[in-house]
Amino acid sequence: MSTDIQSILNKLGINASNAAYSTGSNWGVELNANTLESFSPVDGKLIASAKVASAADYDAVVHKAQEAFTAWRTVPAPKRGEIVRQFGDALRENKDALGTLVSYEMGKSLQEGFGEVQEMIDICDFAVGLSRQLYGLTMHSERPSHRMYEQWHPLGIVGIISAFNFPVAVWSWNTALALVCGNVCIWKPSEKTPLTAIACQHIIAKVFKDNDIAEGVCNLVLGDREVGELMTNDGRIPLISATGSTRMGKAVGAAVGARLGKSLLELGGNNAIIISEHADLDMSLIGAVFGAVGTAGQRCTSTRRLIIHESVYDAFTAKLVKAYGQLRIGDPLDQNNHVGPLIDTDAVAAYLDSIAKCKEEGGNFVVEGGVLSGDAYISGCYVKPCIAEVQNDFKIVQHETFAPILYLIKYKTLDEAIALQNAVPQGLSSAIMTLNLREAEQFLSAKGSDCGIANVNIGTSGAEIGGAFGGEKETGGGRESGSDAWRAYMRRQTNTINYSNTLPLAQGIKFDL
Ligand code: NAD
Repeated sequence: MSTDIQSILNKLGINASNAAYSTGSNWGVELNANTLESFSPVDGKLIASAKVASAADYDAVVHKAQEAFTAWRTVPAPKRGEIVRQFGDALRENKDALGTLVSYEMGKSLQEGFGEVQEMIDICDFAVGLSRQLYGLTMHSERPSHRMYEQWHPLGIVGIISAFNFPVAVWSWNTALALVCGNVCIWKPSEKTPLTAIACQHIIAKVFKDNDIAEGVCNLVLGDREVGELMTNDGRIPLISATGSTRMGKAVGAAVGARLGKSLLELGGNNAIIISEHADLDMSLIGAVFGAVGTAGQRCTSTRRLIIHESVYDAFTAKLVKAYGQLRIGDPLDQNNHVGPLIDTDAVAAYLDSIAKCKEEGGNFVVEGGVLSGDAYISGCYVKPCIAEVQNDFKIVQHETFAPILYLIKYKTLDEAIALQNAVPQGLSSAIMTLNLREAEQFLSAKGSDCGIANVNIGTSGAEIGGAFGGEKETGGGRESGSDAWRAYMRRQTNTINYSNTLPLAQGIKFDL
């Protein structure tokens, strides 16, 4: 482990061996022996380990959270916003350290690690404003001297289950909104990135402590799928917000649905950019390459498919091949590199398997893939971004492979391109590159993209926190982050007040005694 990383771990309060859970500033007791070991995909080294929460640990956390909720829900929303404002400031102070740890533990580039922490800061700023804008509607009653309105109340405990690829931002999207709405949170991060989660818990716990707020408002439980299942089956958690694969989302949706709880699902994508004959090809190239190789193709919004007009297909493919030849693959902490490692060797195996399946189905690789070896790639997690010419209905093209494999598909008409873009099970992000207004508007219209995100002259990858984020079909239908996504974290109550001297019934019904 390099000295730099050690000092970052020290700054963020991470020891060689960490406990299973935390309800506040102190780590819970270590009740069981199961241990998660976090190895960096950058250099394959063990960074630190952490205990897995047992069922008893988990239960203790839920009790603490329930207790904390009784007080937190009575704190005025703008005062809750003030706590979130301080959390945003604490993130500003820790941006370099946390961003570096994100890069080292998850493998994304340092710039993207810092960007992820910036996204956390941005959502805090958004939530502070929101804390004064949790508006309900008022409506006119059909009865005289009656007043009707609706108001929004907190739900209770929000369970947050998150994926490895945005190890801290997704938690903060949920947490900042849930907190200003008056909820308490229990977070189960990915078992692949426990240390960035511990760092976040330390940062937020200090803010609560400095404000003399009792422990239990923000809680962390570490573990794998089984700890997640404790949450999804737990009737004490009214909302589960889960981010991860479609496979996971189907299990979570079924478990939470079976107890009639609420779930907010943010699942896999299979995102395409349509490159029209009216596109600015240089701009399209940047959007396509960043979308496909950024975070080594491990974003839910990564560009997986390019649907290219036949008249520009050859020229654009030649540009792509040239650009791929210039990509520098290596240590993501070195800012000269474009592409870092995959998360682990299982992901490398899935990448190789997808390449083999694509070839079996008739895919033609114009840029070949492969695993890199040698001292600079000692972790075994570095792969070459590759490009294949395919048909959209290949089984492998319909599937989200979380790796830098880009599929090229040719089209003749815009109707055909939109149909191809929509002809996958997922519906997260989509884009068209065109300078033609008619094409752009058709793509955005009701007969256009069926995705939760549809962009013009921007790639599929990356989103600002101000908009609602999420997707349709097998992406799960959830919306997080900006716009009115906060409503998912609250319960709506309709109130009717009678200030007359009589009790008139609705719809003019007579009931005289
Ligand atoms: P994953 O599904 O393997 O795991 C995600 C989380 O779910 C982990 O914390 C895991 O422990 C937990 N989990 C798994 N099975 C569970 C179950 N049955 N019950 C409860 N919890 C369970 O996903 P991953 O490999 O960490 O992340 C990659 C996936 O996440 C990709 O499919 C990607 O598209 C998706 N993702 C989606 C979004 C979005 O906003 N739509 C954002 C980030 C990642």
